[in-house]
Amino acid sequence: MRKLQVKTLAANRLRNGYQALEEYDFKSLGDYTEGEAVEIVDEKNKFIGKGYLGKENRTVGWILTTDKEESIDSVFYDRQFRIAHKARSAFYADDSTTAFRLFNADGDGIGGITVDYYDGFYIFSWFNKGIYTHKEEIYQAFKVAIPDFKGIVEKVRFSDATLESKHVDGEVPPEPLIIKENGIQYATYINEGWMTGIFLDQRNVRRKLMEDWGTGKTILNTFSYTGAFSVAAAMGGAVKTVNIDAANRSKAKTIEQFELNGLKPDDHEIRVIDVFDYLDYAKKHDLKFDMIILDPPTFARTKKRKFTVEKDYVGLIQDALEVLADKGMLIASSNTWKLNRDDFYEMVNEAFDNKNVDAYLLDEYKLPEDFKINEQYPESDYLKVMVLEKTN
Ligand code: SAH
Repeated sequence: MRKLQVKTLAANRLRNGYQALEEYDFKSLGDYTEGEAVEIVDEKNKFIGKGYLGKENRTVGWILTTDKEESIDSVFYDRQFRIAHKARSAFYADDSTTAFRLFNADGDGIGGITVDYYDGFYIFSWFNKGIYTHKEEIYQAFKVAIPDFKGIVEKVRFSDATLESKHVDGEVPPEPLIIKENGIQYATYINEGWMTGIFLDQRNVRRKLMEDWGTGKTILNTFSYTGAFSVAAAMGGAVKTVNIDAANRSKAKTIEQFELNGLKPDDHEIRVIDVFDYLDYAKKHDLKFDMIILDPPTFARTKKRKFTVEKDYVGLIQDALEVLADKGMLIASSNTWKLNRDDFYEMVNEAFDNKNVDAYLLDEYKLPEDFKINEQYPESDYLKVMVLEKTN
Protein backbone atom coordinates (compact mmCIF):
# COMPACT_ATOMS: atom_id res chain seq x y z
CA MET A 1 0.00 0.00 0.00
CA ARG A 2 1.36 3.40 -1.00
CA LYS A 3 2.16 5.81 1.81
CA LEU A 4 1.16 9.38 1.08
CA GLN A 5 2.33 12.35 3.10
CA VAL A 6 -0.05 15.18 3.90
CA LYS A 7 0.82 18.68 5.05
CA THR A 8 0.68 19.53 8.74
CA LEU A 9 -2.62 21.40 8.72
CA ALA A 10 -4.30 18.58 6.85
CA ALA A 11 -2.78 16.07 9.27
CA ASN A 12 -4.36 17.88 12.21
CA ARG A 13 -7.73 18.00 10.52
CA LEU A 14 -7.64 14.32 9.60
CA ARG A 15 -6.56 13.33 13.12
CA ASN A 16 -9.59 15.23 14.43
CA GLY A 17 -11.91 13.03 12.44
CA TYR A 18 -12.24 14.89 9.12
CA GLN A 19 -12.34 12.13 6.51
CA ALA A 20 -12.20 13.96 3.21
CA LEU A 21 -8.89 14.01 1.34
CA GLU A 22 -8.36 17.08 -0.80
CA GLU A 23 -5.77 17.45 -3.49
CA TYR A 24 -3.95 20.35 -1.86
CA ASP A 25 -3.58 18.38 1.42
CA PHE A 26 -0.86 16.27 -0.16
CA LYS A 27 2.81 17.09 -0.38
CA SER A 28 2.65 15.55 -3.83
CA LEU A 29 -0.17 13.35 -4.93
CA GLY A 30 1.09 12.52 -8.41
CA ASP A 31 -0.69 9.99 -10.58
CA TYR A 32 -3.00 7.58 -8.88
CA THR A 33 -5.39 4.81 -9.75
CA GLU A 34 -9.07 5.22 -8.93
CA GLY A 35 -9.80 3.04 -5.93
CA GLU A 36 -6.17 2.74 -4.88
CA ALA A 37 -5.78 1.89 -1.20
CA VAL A 38 -3.45 4.30 0.56
CA GLU A 39 -1.93 4.89 3.96
CA ILE A 40 -1.92 8.54 4.98
CA VAL A 41 1.03 9.75 7.03
CA ASP A 42 2.16 13.14 8.31
CA GLU A 43 5.33 14.99 7.31
CA LYS A 44 7.28 12.89 9.81
CA ASN A 45 5.85 9.70 8.32
CA LYS A 46 3.68 9.05 11.37
CA PHE A 47 0.52 7.08 10.68
CA ILE A 48 -2.78 9.00 10.37
CA GLY A 49 -5.16 6.63 8.65
CA LYS A 50 -6.00 4.29 5.80
CA GLY A 51 -8.34 5.01 2.97
CA TYR A 52 -8.75 5.12 -0.78
CA LEU A 53 -8.35 7.55 -3.64
CA GLY A 54 -11.28 8.49 -5.85
CA LYS A 55 -12.16 11.80 -7.47
CA GLU A 56 -15.44 13.37 -6.38
CA ASN A 57 -16.50 17.08 -6.45
CA ARG A 58 -13.92 18.68 -4.19
CA THR A 59 -12.30 15.56 -2.77
CA VAL A 60 -9.77 13.05 -4.13
CA GLY A 61 -10.44 10.31 -1.60
CA TRP A 62 -11.61 9.35 1.85
CA ILE A 63 -10.03 8.09 5.06
CA LEU A 64 -11.82 4.93 6.19
CA THR A 65 -10.03 4.14 9.44
CA THR A 66 -7.55 5.74 11.82
CA ASP A 67 -6.76 2.37 13.40
CA LYS A 68 -3.41 1.12 12.16
CA GLU A 69 -4.31 -2.50 12.84
CA GLU A 70 -7.56 -2.43 10.90
CA SER A 71 -7.73 -3.72 7.31
CA ILE A 72 -10.18 -2.36 4.78
CA ASP A 73 -11.82 -5.59 3.74
CA SER A 74 -15.15 -7.39 3.86
CA VAL A 75 -15.02 -7.51 7.67
CA PHE A 76 -14.68 -3.73 7.76
CA TYR A 77 -17.55 -3.13 5.30
CA ASP A 78 -19.74 -5.69 7.04
CA ARG A 79 -19.27 -3.93 10.37
CA GLN A 80 -20.05 -0.47 8.96
CA PHE A 81 -23.32 -1.77 7.48
CA ARG A 82 -24.32 -3.47 10.73
CA ILE A 83 -23.65 -0.33 12.77
CA ALA A 84 -25.66 1.78 10.33
CA HIS A 85 -28.50 -0.76 10.33
CA LYS A 86 -28.68 -0.80 14.11
CA ALA A 87 -28.65 2.99 14.25
CA ARG A 88 -31.81 3.00 12.07
CA SER A 89 -33.72 0.41 14.08
CA ALA A 90 -36.42 2.95 14.97
CA PHE A 91 -37.00 3.55 11.24
CA TYR A 92 -37.24 -0.17 10.49
CA ALA A 93 -39.72 -0.56 13.36
CA ASP A 94 -41.98 2.26 12.17
CA ASP A 95 -44.64 0.93 9.77
CA SER A 96 -45.81 4.40 8.84
CA THR A 97 -42.46 5.28 7.20
CA THR A 98 -40.99 2.76 4.78
CA ALA A 99 -38.30 4.80 3.05
CA PHE A 100 -35.22 6.28 4.67
CA ARG A 101 -31.46 6.48 4.37
CA LEU A 102 -29.70 3.45 5.76
CA PHE A 103 -26.17 4.56 5.04
CA ASN A 104 -24.97 8.12 4.58
CA ALA A 105 -21.45 8.00 3.13
CA ASP A 106 -18.76 9.52 5.37
CA GLY A 107 -21.37 10.09 8.10
CA ASP A 108 -21.56 6.31 8.40
CA GLY A 109 -17.86 5.77 7.82
CA ILE A 110 -17.49 5.14 4.07
CA GLY A 111 -17.18 8.30 2.01
CA GLY A 112 -18.50 7.90 -1.53
CA ILE A 113 -21.52 5.60 -1.03
CA THR A 114 -25.06 6.13 0.18
CA VAL A 115 -27.69 3.41 0.60
CA ASP A 116 -31.40 4.18 0.75
CA TYR A 117 -34.09 1.80 1.94
CA TYR A 118 -37.30 1.75 -0.11
CA ASP A 119 -39.75 -0.76 1.34
CA GLY A 120 -37.36 -3.70 1.37
CA PHE A 121 -35.35 -2.59 -1.66
CA TYR A 122 -31.94 -0.96 -1.28
CA ILE A 123 -30.57 1.70 -3.58
CA PHE A 124 -26.80 2.07 -3.62
CA SER A 125 -25.51 5.38 -4.99
CA TRP A 126 -21.85 5.50 -5.94
CA PHE A 127 -20.33 8.96 -5.98
CA ASN A 128 -16.85 8.23 -7.28
CA LYS A 129 -15.20 5.69 -9.51
CA GLY A 130 -12.64 4.77 -6.86
CA ILE A 131 -15.07 3.23 -4.41
CA TYR A 132 -17.01 1.70 -7.32
CA THR A 133 -13.97 -0.44 -8.18
CA HIS A 134 -14.56 -2.15 -4.79
CA LYS A 135 -18.25 -2.74 -5.38
CA GLU A 136 -18.18 -6.56 -5.51
CA GLU A 137 -16.60 -6.81 -2.08
CA ILE A 138 -18.95 -4.15 -0.71
CA TYR A 139 -22.12 -5.80 -2.10
CA GLN A 140 -20.95 -9.13 -0.74
CA ALA A 141 -20.42 -7.67 2.74
CA PHE A 142 -23.78 -5.88 2.56
CA LYS A 143 -25.63 -9.09 1.71
CA VAL A 144 -24.09 -10.82 4.71
CA ALA A 145 -24.84 -7.92 7.07
CA ILE A 146 -28.39 -7.33 5.80
CA PRO A 147 -29.55 -10.59 4.18
CA ASP A 148 -33.30 -9.88 4.21
CA PHE A 149 -33.33 -7.45 1.27
CA LYS A 150 -35.97 -7.79 -1.45
CA GLY A 151 -33.67 -6.41 -4.09
CA ILE A 152 -30.69 -4.14 -4.74
CA VAL A 153 -30.45 -1.40 -7.35
CA GLU A 154 -27.47 0.81 -8.03
CA LYS A 155 -27.16 4.42 -9.19
CA VAL A 156 -23.88 5.58 -10.58
CA ARG A 157 -23.43 9.25 -9.78
CA PHE A 158 -19.98 10.02 -11.16
CA SER A 159 -19.79 11.76 -14.48
CA ASP A 160 -18.24 9.32 -16.93
CA ALA A 161 -20.45 6.40 -15.98
CA THR A 162 -22.05 4.53 -18.86
CA LEU A 163 -25.20 3.51 -16.99
CA GLU A 164 -27.12 5.64 -14.51
CA SER A 165 -29.15 2.88 -12.94
CA LYS A 166 -28.86 -0.89 -12.80
CA HIS A 167 -30.53 -3.83 -11.10
CA VAL A 168 -27.94 -5.67 -9.00
CA ASP A 169 -29.57 -8.50 -7.06
CA GLY A 170 -32.84 -9.99 -5.84
CA GLU A 171 -36.22 -8.94 -7.23
CA VAL A 172 -36.58 -6.16 -9.76
CA PRO A 173 -38.52 -3.39 -7.95
CA PRO A 174 -42.12 -2.92 -9.14
CA GLU A 175 -43.04 0.25 -11.05
CA PRO A 176 -44.27 2.18 -9.22
CA LEU A 177 -42.95 1.09 -5.86
CA ILE A 178 -45.32 2.55 -3.27
CA ILE A 179 -43.59 3.74 -0.13
CA LYS A 180 -45.07 5.33 2.98
CA GLU A 181 -43.84 8.33 4.88
CA ASN A 182 -45.60 9.34 8.08
CA GLY A 183 -48.64 7.49 6.78
CA ILE A 184 -48.72 9.23 3.39
CA GLN A 185 -48.12 7.15 0.29
CA TYR A 186 -45.76 8.08 -2.51
CA ALA A 187 -45.23 6.40 -5.86
CA THR A 188 -41.53 5.94 -6.53
CA TYR A 189 -39.70 4.69 -9.61
CA ILE A 190 -36.36 3.25 -8.67
CA ASN A 191 -35.30 1.47 -11.85
CA GLU A 192 -34.27 4.46 -13.93
CA GLY A 193 -32.32 7.70 -13.52
CA TRP A 194 -31.29 8.75 -10.04
CA MET A 195 -34.36 10.75 -9.07
CA THR A 196 -36.84 8.32 -7.51
CA GLY A 197 -39.87 10.60 -7.18
CA ILE A 198 -39.18 11.64 -3.60
CA PHE A 199 -36.32 13.38 -1.83
CA LEU A 200 -36.07 11.60 1.49
CA ASP A 201 -34.09 14.38 3.14
CA GLN A 202 -37.21 16.63 3.27
CA ARG A 203 -39.20 14.15 5.36
CA ASN A 204 -39.43 16.39 8.44
CA VAL A 205 -40.54 19.38 6.39
CA ARG A 206 -43.31 17.31 4.79
CA ARG A 207 -44.33 16.09 8.21
CA LYS A 208 -44.63 19.63 9.50
CA LEU A 209 -46.62 20.65 6.41
CA MET A 210 -49.04 17.83 7.11
CA GLU A 211 -49.31 18.25 10.86
CA ASP A 212 -49.32 21.97 11.18
CA TRP A 213 -48.46 24.49 8.51
CA GLY A 214 -50.64 23.26 5.65
CA THR A 215 -54.04 23.46 7.30
CA GLY A 216 -56.44 25.90 5.66
CA LYS A 217 -53.80 27.39 3.38
CA THR A 218 -53.44 28.14 -0.30
CA ILE A 219 -49.96 27.05 -1.29
CA LEU A 220 -47.69 27.84 -4.21
CA ASN A 221 -45.22 24.98 -4.55
CA THR A 222 -42.46 25.96 -6.98
CA PHE A 223 -39.97 23.46 -8.49
CA SER A 224 -42.62 21.01 -7.38
CA TYR A 225 -41.29 17.86 -9.18
CA THR A 226 -43.78 15.13 -8.13
CA GLY A 227 -45.63 17.47 -5.77
CA ALA A 228 -44.54 15.73 -2.58
CA PHE A 229 -44.74 18.90 -0.43
CA SER A 230 -48.23 19.60 -1.80
CA VAL A 231 -49.50 16.11 -1.11
CA ALA A 232 -48.31 16.35 2.51
CA ALA A 233 -49.91 19.78 2.92
CA ALA A 234 -53.16 18.65 1.28
CA MET A 235 -53.32 15.61 3.56
CA GLY A 236 -53.04 18.10 6.41
CA GLY A 237 -55.97 20.12 5.13
CA ALA A 238 -54.50 22.67 2.72
CA VAL A 239 -57.32 24.28 0.73
CA LYS A 240 -55.49 24.34 -2.57
CA THR A 241 -51.99 23.86 -3.94
CA VAL A 242 -50.54 25.25 -7.16
CA ASN A 243 -47.66 23.13 -8.43
CA ILE A 244 -45.12 24.63 -10.79
CA ASP A 245 -42.46 22.66 -12.61
CA ALA A 246 -40.92 23.08 -16.05
CA ALA A 247 -40.57 19.34 -16.69
CA ASN A 248 -43.38 17.64 -18.62
CA ARG A 249 -43.14 14.51 -16.50
CA SER A 250 -44.13 16.43 -13.38
CA LYS A 251 -47.81 16.67 -14.28
CA ALA A 252 -48.63 12.96 -14.50
CA LYS A 253 -46.41 12.20 -11.53
CA THR A 254 -48.10 14.81 -9.36
CA ILE A 255 -51.59 13.58 -10.34
CA GLU A 256 -50.47 10.08 -9.41
CA GLN A 257 -49.32 11.16 -5.92
CA PHE A 258 -52.61 12.95 -5.22
CA GLU A 259 -54.77 10.06 -6.41
CA LEU A 260 -52.77 7.51 -4.48
CA ASN A 261 -53.80 9.28 -1.29
CA GLY A 262 -57.45 9.73 -2.23
CA LEU A 263 -57.04 13.43 -2.99
CA LYS A 264 -58.67 14.97 -6.06
CA PRO A 265 -56.10 16.44 -8.45
CA ASP A 266 -58.85 18.73 -9.80
CA ASP A 267 -58.91 20.58 -6.49
CA HIS A 268 -55.34 21.63 -7.28
CA GLU A 269 -53.39 23.21 -10.14
CA ILE A 270 -50.50 21.43 -11.77
CA ARG A 271 -48.72 23.56 -14.34
CA VAL A 272 -45.81 22.76 -16.58
CA ILE A 273 -44.18 26.18 -16.82
CA ASP A 274 -40.97 27.95 -15.84
CA VAL A 275 -41.20 29.20 -12.25
CA PHE A 276 -40.12 32.71 -13.17
CA ASP A 277 -42.77 32.95 -15.89
CA TYR A 278 -45.42 31.75 -13.49
CA LEU A 279 -44.37 34.29 -10.85
CA ASP A 280 -44.70 37.04 -13.51
CA TYR A 281 -48.13 35.78 -14.41
CA ALA A 282 -49.21 35.56 -10.76
CA LYS A 283 -48.03 39.10 -10.15
CA LYS A 284 -49.87 40.46 -13.21
CA HIS A 285 -53.07 38.75 -12.09
CA ASP A 286 -52.64 39.93 -8.53
CA LEU A 287 -52.67 36.39 -7.14
CA LYS A 288 -51.72 35.91 -3.49
CA PHE A 289 -50.73 32.76 -1.63
CA ASP A 290 -50.73 32.02 2.10
CA MET A 291 -47.63 29.93 1.68
CA ILE A 292 -44.91 29.71 -0.95
CA ILE A 293 -42.39 26.90 -1.12
CA LEU A 294 -39.10 27.48 -2.93
CA ASP A 295 -37.00 24.37 -3.38
CA PRO A 296 -34.95 24.83 -6.54
CA PRO A 297 -32.08 22.61 -7.67
CA THR A 298 -28.53 23.96 -7.30
CA PHE A 299 -28.32 24.43 -11.03
CA ALA A 300 -30.90 24.11 -13.79
CA ARG A 301 -31.14 24.95 -17.42
CA THR A 302 -34.60 25.22 -18.93
CA LYS A 303 -35.48 26.19 -22.50
CA LYS A 304 -35.45 29.83 -21.51
CA ARG A 305 -32.95 30.35 -18.75
CA LYS A 306 -30.17 29.14 -16.57
CA PHE A 307 -30.71 29.09 -12.81
CA THR A 308 -27.93 28.93 -10.23
CA VAL A 309 -28.54 29.19 -6.52
CA GLU A 310 -25.66 31.63 -5.97
CA LYS A 311 -26.75 34.10 -8.63
CA ASP A 312 -30.50 33.74 -8.75
CA TYR A 313 -31.90 32.73 -5.37
CA VAL A 314 -32.19 36.26 -3.96
CA GLY A 315 -34.14 37.34 -7.04
CA LEU A 316 -36.35 34.27 -6.81
CA ILE A 317 -37.32 35.09 -3.22
CA GLN A 318 -37.98 38.71 -4.20
CA ASP A 319 -40.31 37.63 -6.99
CA ALA A 320 -42.08 35.25 -4.62
CA LEU A 321 -42.58 37.99 -2.01
CA GLU A 322 -44.66 39.91 -4.56
CA VAL A 323 -47.31 37.21 -4.42
CA LEU A 324 -47.13 36.27 -0.75
CA ALA A 325 -50.27 37.19 1.22
CA ASP A 326 -50.22 39.22 4.43
CA LYS A 327 -48.95 37.10 7.32
CA GLY A 328 -47.90 34.59 4.67
CA MET A 329 -45.29 31.92 5.15
CA LEU A 330 -42.29 31.39 2.89
CA ILE A 331 -40.28 28.18 2.92
CA ALA A 332 -36.87 28.66 1.31
CA SER A 333 -34.80 25.53 0.86
CA SER A 334 -31.44 24.78 -0.68
CA ASN A 335 -29.41 21.61 -0.91
CA THR A 336 -26.19 22.97 -2.32
CA TRP A 337 -23.00 22.21 -0.39
CA LYS A 338 -21.55 25.38 -1.84
CA LEU A 339 -23.47 27.56 0.62
CA ASN A 340 -23.38 27.07 4.35
CA ARG A 341 -26.29 27.86 6.64
CA ASP A 342 -25.18 31.42 7.40
CA ASP A 343 -24.50 32.28 3.75
CA PHE A 344 -27.95 31.07 2.84
CA TYR A 345 -29.59 32.93 5.73
CA GLU A 346 -27.84 36.09 4.53
CA MET A 347 -29.32 35.63 1.06
CA VAL A 348 -32.81 35.17 2.47
CA ASN A 349 -32.38 38.31 4.58
CA GLU A 350 -31.09 40.29 1.65
CA ALA A 351 -34.20 39.47 -0.37
CA PHE A 352 -36.57 40.49 2.43
CA ASP A 353 -34.59 43.71 3.01
CA ASN A 354 -34.57 44.59 -0.66
CA LYS A 355 -38.33 44.21 -0.75
CA ASN A 356 -38.87 45.92 2.59
CA VAL A 357 -40.85 43.00 3.90
CA ASP A 358 -40.79 42.32 7.64
CA ALA A 359 -40.67 38.72 8.66
CA TYR A 360 -39.24 36.48 11.31
CA LEU A 361 -37.60 33.09 11.18
CA LEU A 362 -40.37 30.81 12.41
CA ASP A 363 -38.50 27.56 12.04
CA GLU A 364 -35.50 25.98 10.43
CA TYR A 365 -34.69 22.48 9.22
CA LYS A 366 -31.53 20.55 8.48
CA LEU A 367 -30.91 16.99 7.40
CA PRO A 368 -33.04 14.42 9.23
CA GLU A 369 -31.30 12.00 11.57
CA ASP A 370 -31.05 9.09 9.13
CA PHE A 371 -28.87 11.36 6.98
CA LYS A 372 -26.14 10.96 9.55
CA ILE A 373 -23.33 13.46 9.22
CA ASN A 374 -19.81 13.63 10.50
CA GLU A 375 -19.67 16.69 12.79
CA GLN A 376 -16.04 17.18 11.78
CA TYR A 377 -17.01 17.58 8.15
CA PRO A 378 -19.61 20.35 8.11
CA GLU A 379 -19.65 20.49 4.30
CA SER A 380 -21.68 17.29 4.26
CA ASP A 381 -24.48 18.97 6.23
CA TYR A 382 -25.88 20.36 3.00
CA LEU A 383 -29.61 20.89 3.59
CA LYS A 384 -30.90 24.28 4.68
CA VAL A 385 -34.60 25.01 5.06
CA MET A 386 -35.68 28.42 6.40
CA VAL A 387 -39.31 29.06 7.27
CA LEU A 388 -40.25 32.71 7.44
CA GLU A 389 -43.49 34.31 8.43
CA LYS A 390 -44.42 37.79 7.34
CA THR A 391 -45.34 40.04 10.23
CA ASN A 392 -47.63 42.25 8.19
N1 SAH B 1 -39.20 20.39 -4.45
C1 SAH B 1 -39.17 19.06 -5.03
C2 SAH B 1 -37.85 18.71 -5.66
C3 SAH B 1 -37.37 19.66 -6.71
S1 SAH B 1 -36.33 18.88 -7.88
C4 SAH B 1 -39.56 18.01 -4.00
O1 SAH B 1 -39.64 18.32 -2.82
O2 SAH B 1 -39.81 16.87 -4.38
C5 SAH B 1 -36.08 20.20 -8.97
C6 SAH B 1 -37.20 20.42 -9.96
O3 SAH B 1 -37.07 21.74 -10.45
C7 SAH B 1 -37.17 19.50 -11.16
O4 SAH B 1 -38.37 18.78 -11.21
C8 SAH B 1 -37.02 20.45 -12.36
O5 SAH B 1 -37.81 20.05 -13.46
C9 SAH B 1 -37.53 21.76 -11.81
N2 SAH B 1 -37.02 22.99 -12.42
C10 SAH B 1 -35.73 23.36 -12.60
N3 SAH B 1 -35.67 24.61 -13.08
C11 SAH B 1 -36.94 25.06 -13.21
C12 SAH B 1 -37.53 26.29 -13.63
N4 SAH B 1 -36.78 27.33 -14.01
N5 SAH B 1 -38.87 26.39 -13.60
C13 SAH B 1 -39.64 25.35 -13.18
N6 SAH B 1 -39.13 24.18 -12.77
C14 SAH B 1 -37.80 24.03 -12.77
